Amino acid sequence: MKALLVIDMLNDFVEKGGALDCGDRAREIVPFVHRKIEEYRREKQLVVFVCDSHRPDDPEFQLFPRHSIKGTEGARIIAALPIGQKDISIEKTRYSAFTNTGLEKTLRKHRVDQVHIVGVCTSICVMDTVGDLRDRDYPVIVYQDGVADFDPEAHRFSLRRMEKIYGAKIV
Ligand SMILES: [Zn+2]
Repeated sequence: MKALLVIDMLNDFVEKGGALDCGDRAREIVPFVHRKIEEYRREKQLVVFVCDSHRPDDPEFQLFPRHSIKGTEGARIIAALPIGQKDISIEKTRYSAFTNTGLEKTLRKHRVDQVHIVGVCTSICVMDTVGDLRDRDYPVIVYQDGVADFDPEAHRFSLRRMEKIYGAKIV
């Protein structure tokens, strides 16, 4: 089974004026991400939405403006990517989708043996999640047309790093 991780495609990251708006690039990837999601559903593969969901006093807000507070509009998946019946959604509070979440168990339960990645932002939650996947020896594919970052230089660096250091495949 393949899993597609859709990382932080939430109002606060993707919508214009969101609390951590990742910029036009994040909006430009939406049609690609949508196509990928449909493709995985059609092939009966697993689609996992990974969603930032913070408490109002989360320590992460010492580094970043408050965003994606659990239960608010900002923490919701963007309207352009409605979650499907068989999709899974996982809430996280840290950069990596593995930290204090059920992701590891979910991947095992569904016998996932390959993980594909889309979402934002490339240099933070995407890269940290890819690192943790590679630490667990999952083969990983990152779709470069399906990831985005508010910092274009960090975006390019992260793609190179995920390829050269983590051994992810960038396609
Ligand atoms: Zn966050």
